[in-house]
Amino acid sequence: MDKKYNIAIIGGGVVGSICSFILAENKHQVTLYDDEIYSATKAALGIICPWFSQRRNKPWLKLVLKGSEFYYDLNKMLKELGIDTSYFRENGTIILRKEKETLLKLQKQGNDLGIQSTLLTPNQIKKIFPSFIGDENGLLVKSGSSVDGLKMIETFKQAAFKFNFRYFKKTININDILSDYDYIICCAGIGNKKILEDLGFDIDLRASKGQLIISEPLNVKENLITLMPKGEIDIMPNLDTSLTVGASHQNDDNFNLEFDENILNKIKKDASIYIQDFDKIEIKEKKLGIRTYTSDYGVFVGKINEKVIAAGGLSSSGLSSGPYIAKIIKDIIEENPSDIDLSLYDPKKYLKNKEK
Ligand SMILES: Cc1cc2nc3c(=O)[nH]c(=O)nc-3n(C[C@H](O)[C@H](O)[C@H](O)COP(=O)(O)OP(=O)(O)OC[C@H]3O[C@@H](n4cnc5c(N)ncnc54)[C@H](O)[C@@H]3O)c2cc1C
Repeated sequence: MDKKYNIAIIGGGVVGSICSFILAENKHQVTLYDDEIYSATKAALGIICPWFSQRRNKPWLKLVLKGSEFYYDLNKMLKELGIDTSYFRENGTIILRKEKETLLKLQKQGNDLGIQSTLLTPNQIKKIFPSFIGDENGLLVKSGSSVDGLKMIETFKQAAFKFNFRYFKKTININDILSDYDYIICCAGIGNKKILEDLGFDIDLRASKGQLIISEPLNVKENLITLMPKGEIDIMPNLDTSLTVGASHQNDDNFNLEFDENILNKIKKDASIYIQDFDKIEIKEKKLGIRTYTSDYGVFVGKINEKVIAAGGLSSSGLSSGPYIAKIIKDIIEENPSDIDLSLYDPKKYLKNKEK
C-alpha cells in the first residue's frame, strides 16, 4: 500500500519510539507526543531472553519471540543510517536454579525453539562472573541480550528525525487532536486509561510500580553477562563495573512516583545472596517506572475505531514484545497482511463503554 498518512503517536516508550521510526522511515508524516512522566521503558534496563520463560501463554509467547528477533532487523536499519546501536547488548544470560532438573527442562524448552544453551556448575559460573557467591547451577544462553530503555528511546527518536518526524514533550488530550490526523496511535502505558476514558471507554488496565538500583562501581571485572536468579531480581553488570539490580513489582493504581527505601534495601539484600556484601554497597542511581497489566495478563494491540489504534498491557516483558507490537501497528495502518492472528490481541476484549 503506497498511501502515506499523517499520524500522531501518544506515548514514546518502546512501542511509540519504534513505531515513530518505522512509520517515518516508510515516508509517513509522524508526530510523537510524550510527557516523559510515567514511562516504564525509560526506567528499564531490560533483559531479552524469552525462550526460557515458564510463562506459556501462546499469544504472549508469540509476541515476545517475534519482538526479540525483530531487534536484529531494526538494528540493521539503524546501522544503515549510521546510528549507534549500543542500546542493545547481546552479552548472554545465565539462568540460576538450585535444581539441575529444572535447568534441563528449560534447556529442552529452548532447544525446541532452536535456542542453544549450556549447563554450568557453580564453579563454572564463578569463572565467568567472579563476584558470584551462590551455590546454584546455571544455564548459559549466549543469545540472551539486554536493552537500556532510556538509550533505546533516544536512539529510535534520533533515527526518526532523519525522516518526516516531529516530537513534542507534552501531555495530550486525544479529543484535542482527533481532527488533525489520519491515525492516532495510543501507546501511552498507564496513560491509556485516561486517553480511552476521554473516548468514552473504561479499560481493564492496572499499574505496577517497578524500582531498580545501580550500584557504585565494584571494581571486579565481570563478563557483562546477566544473572537471572529465581524470583524478582536480575543482576546485570555494566561497563564501569557497577551492577544494575532489580526490579521490584508493586501494585500502585495511584501511579505514585516516590521511591520506597524499604524496597530498595530489600533489592540489595536479595542480591547479596548472589553477590558478596552487596547489602553494604552504595546506590549510585535508582530508577522507577510504571508497568501496565490487564486482568488476564494479555497484551492488546488493534483498532478502537477507524482512526484510533491502541496498544498496551505490556507488563514486565514489554522490552521483548514491544518492537513487534510496533510492527503490527505499522502493518495495520498500511493494510499489510499479518503473519499472526490479530484477533488474539483485540483491545475490545478489555474495553467497556463508560457508564454515563
Ligand atoms: C524497572 C523496570 C524493569 C523492567 N524490566 C524489563 C525487562 O527486563 N524485560 C522486559 O521485557 N521488560 C521489562 N520491563 C517492562 C517494560 O519496560 C514495559 O513493559 C514497556 O517498557 C512498556 O512500554 P510502553 O511503550 O507500553 O509504555 P511506556 O514505556 O510506559 O511509555 C508510555 C509513555 O506515554 C507517556 N504518556 C502517558 N499519557 C500521555 C499523554 N496523555 N500524553 C503524552 N504522553 C503520555 C508516559 O509518560 C510514558 O512516557 C521493565 C519495567 C520496569 C519499570
